[in-house]
Formats: sequence, structure tokens, C-alpha cells
Amino acid sequence: MVMTKARHVAQHYARRLSHLAKWVSYRTGMTNLHTYPDRMYIESTNVCNLQCVMCPNGLGQLNRRKGFMDYGLFTEIVDEMAPHVQMTTLHIWGEPLLHPRIFDMISYCSSHKLHSEISTNATLLTEEASRQILDARIGAIYLCLDGATRETYEQVRRRADFDQVSANIRRFIEMKNMRGSGPRVSVQIINIRPTAAEVDQFKAQWTVPGVDRVNIKAFDSWGGQLQEISALRSVDDRVQLPAKRYPCPNLWYHVHIYWDGSLVCCDRDFDALNPLGNVRGGVMKAWNGPLMIELRRKHLSGRLDDVPSCSKCVEWSWWKPTPFASHGNSPQH
Ligand code: SF4
Repeated sequence: MVMTKARHVAQHYARRLSHLAKWVSYRTGMTNLHTYPDRMYIESTNVCNLQCVMCPNGLGQLNRRKGFMDYGLFTEIVDEMAPHVQMTTLHIWGEPLLHPRIFDMISYCSSHKLHSEISTNATLLTEEASRQILDARIGAIYLCLDGATRETYEQVRRRADFDQVSANIRRFIEMKNMRGSGPRVSVQIINIRPTAAEVDQFKAQWTVPGVDRVNIKAFDSWGGQLQEISALRSVDDRVQLPAKRYPCPNLWYHVHIYWDGSLVCCDRDFDALNPLGNVRGGVMKAWNGPLMIELRRKHLSGRLDDVPSCSKCVEWSWWKPTPFASHGNSPQH
């Protein structure tokens, strides 16, 4: 007991020191980093079974090759990074439950004490899939429903069935509750023009035991690259940018890896138009490779005209890094 407490305290201070080191690297404009990223985003697959209106993939605008991450590559990434990163997501684009080895992937993370998360459209969240996810000890799961009514949901999440997905989610929560413990569960609605009026109703519907958070996901313009998506921003959602653009902390804090091992700045480069290397030779080698260093330099000097994902992006402003925190996934942080 005393040992466990001592280990937790040691871990806590090690993390704070690591945050501080990252913050110093960022603030002093280092481009070749001696620090590990704190989060890893791994795209298990970019294949999806829906056609959602707020998603470049759903709109048929994701033109890079479709595929599934090779399990051997996945384990190499985790072996290298698990001791150093705080957590990993197992999705970027695509529906992670389509990956034939997604449960093994979650389990592999758990066995390496790496907190894992997935965000799923829950269409494939059968009772058996739920059991396997819970058995694999996932750290957190985002169950995306995106509507309080059938009409809105099916307008946004095209090809999905509201009643079926709602039932899948309720059953998952029930199974978690029956076990008495389990992952942190977020039931999620995105705040866009078609859903904005249903947010309060959604919160009331899903404030139930077993749901740790009803997540109102902020609208993401995906770097303002697709007009069809930009038009979905709800009327009361105004972008407020700081007076001066600062280098995007993503490039110092979070590593994004697509299913074929390509490294990108973040998910807003959905077509990998600005590839930054490949992690097949090692994640840290690519994280400090010449293309990554060059992009950090471009951010430091504000020369972003030839970087399609970053040039019109406003989501960099979600980041407000401090010496001991590094969230940048939503405007609230
Ligand atoms: S500026 Fe935008 S697109 Fe570029 S890395 Fe940051 S969040 Fe991603």
C-alpha cells in the first residue's frame, strides 16, 4: 500500500516535470525536441460505415488510400511509446470498431499500462463488442449520438439508425454498471447548426448513472478547408482568435499517426497533403525528423501559406499551454 502510494506520487511529479520540459521546449522555440509527446493519436483505420455531414470522410472528401493499421506496426508503436506518453486514442478518421483486431489493440495498451480511448459511432457496438471492450479494459470511450431525436440524428449521421444506436449505447452503459467499474464513458453530441437546438434535451436524456460526462463536442472546421463543413458552424458559435497567432502547440505536444504509419501535423491534414515522415523506423525518429522540424520552423516564423491544413486553421487557438497542462482538443481547455 505504502509502495503504491509512493509510486503514484513519483509518477505525478515525473509527469509534472515532463510537462514543464515540454512547455520550455515550446516556449523557447526548440524544433528538435528532447521530450516525448504527451498524447498519441493512432488511426486504427480510415474506413467508415457512415456518411456524416460534419466529416470530410463522410462527405467522400478523404482521398488517401483506405486501410487498416497492421497489428505488428501497432505493437511496435506501443512498445516504443507506452512508457513515455500519457494516453493514446485508437481512432483518428474512420470507425475503430471496423478494425478486426481493435479489441487486441485495446488489450495491448492495457497490458502496457497505456490509457487508451476510442470514439465510436456505436453502430457496431453489439453486446459482444461491448463485452470485449470492457474485458480489454479501455480507459475511456466516446459514444457519439449527435442528436436527441431520430430526425436530427439521421440527418447528421447518415446511414445510421437512431433507435438501434441508442439501444447499443444504453446496453453498453448497463453492462458497465453491472460490472461496478469500467471506462470513463462520454455520450456525445456535436454542436453544429442541425443539432444546436437539441443540446439541452440531449443533456437531460443522457444524464444517467454510468455516463461520466455528456460531452458537447465543439464544432471543428477541419482547418477551414471544406466550405460544406464550414457552413455547419452554429450561429452563436463565434470564433475568437487571439490578437497574434502563436505556433501551434500540437507540433510539440501531440503525435498523429495514420494507419499506414504516416505522420501528420494533426487530423486536420485529413488527406496527408503535408506528410511529415513515417513511423515505421521509429516514432521518435519521425517526430524529430527533418519534415517535422521544418514544419515547426514554419510555425515559429508564421510562414504557413503552403501548408493547407494549418494556413486557414483556427483550431490552434484552442490550445492555451501552461507549464503544467497541455490540452488542446476543445476550446474549453
Ligand atoms: S495549426 Fe491547425 S491544422 Fe495545423 S497542426 Fe495546429 S491544429 Fe492542426
